[in-house]
Amino acid sequence: MTTTAFITHRDCWLHDMGSMHPECADRLSAINDRLIAAGLDMYISFYDAPVAEREQILRVHPAEYLDDLVGNVPEHGIRHLDPDTAMSPGTMKAALRSAGAGVFATDLIMKGEIENAFCAVRPPGHHAERAKAMGFCFMNNVAIAARHALEAHGLERVAVVDFDVHHGNGTEDIFRNDPRVMMAGIFQHPFYPYSGTDNPPAHMCNVPLPAGTRGDAFRQVFSDVVVPALRSHNPQMIFISAGFDAHYEDDMGSLGLVEADYVWATEQIKGVAADCGHTRIVSILEGGYSLSSLARSVVAHIKALADL
Ligand SMILES: [Zn+2]
Repeated sequence: MTTTAFITHRDCWLHDMGSMHPECADRLSAINDRLIAAGLDMYISFYDAPVAEREQILRVHPAEYLDDLVGNVPEHGIRHLDPDTAMSPGTMKAALRSAGAGVFATDLIMKGEIENAFCAVRPPGHHAERAKAMGFCFMNNVAIAARHALEAHGLERVAVVDFDVHHGNGTEDIFRNDPRVMMAGIFQHPFYPYSGTDNPPAHMCNVPLPAGTRGDAFRQVFSDVVVPALRSHNPQMIFISAGFDAHYEDDMGSLGLVEADYVWATEQIKGVAADCGHTRIVSILEGGYSLSSLARSVVAHIKALADL
């Protein structure tokens, strides 16, 4: 049986963008509840996420940007950085654990303690550019983990697979000039943040899907385009920007995936890792806002990671 880690931290509940905001702490509670109800807690290893260290964050974000984020944390109430993205007193505590989770997962896998990991963290990260918070994101968790694999563990090639309904503009911005990182994104288009289709560099594999796309068409293009692109890069570790807002029940987007599609995509990614001679996969939560479909999809994804 595969050893799968589940990494989270109570501090990830502290970030609060207001009572009506869809990116809320109830998302993590729904995942935890479903995990226990499914009996999965017997079969996976639980870890608390450490805080990311400053030097780990600075591999991705400039120091001035990080200092500005810390300086913008309000003493009370909520401070908006843009109409979608706001800070509360607990935001940086949560963000540091979110970034730390992916780094920690990378370390556990490289030490051989686990085969793969899912990080149930918030705030999400894939819209955060080098020096810009946007789209509910402050620090790019998956990019910080990927750079850690390259710089701290000496890997030469890694990949980021992003199946969130939104294009991961931040991850693309960060790795635009770093061909060690292949980014494969499959997302609704045209749709927020309206990026991902203009002249992507050769190591970016972007697959825009029209609104209304269902699982059969998603699987076809994933098989035909994403899997061969990943294989050709021969990544030594694969990161997943695991957003579940492309689910049929999630009103944030207009794609029609269901749990079985997430299981299938997870198995494809595991297959690529096996073809590349390893089992190293770090999956980090991005979007997913319908609490029921989010929790069901995450549990299905973890079951696939863990061969359960
Ligand atoms: Zn999203």
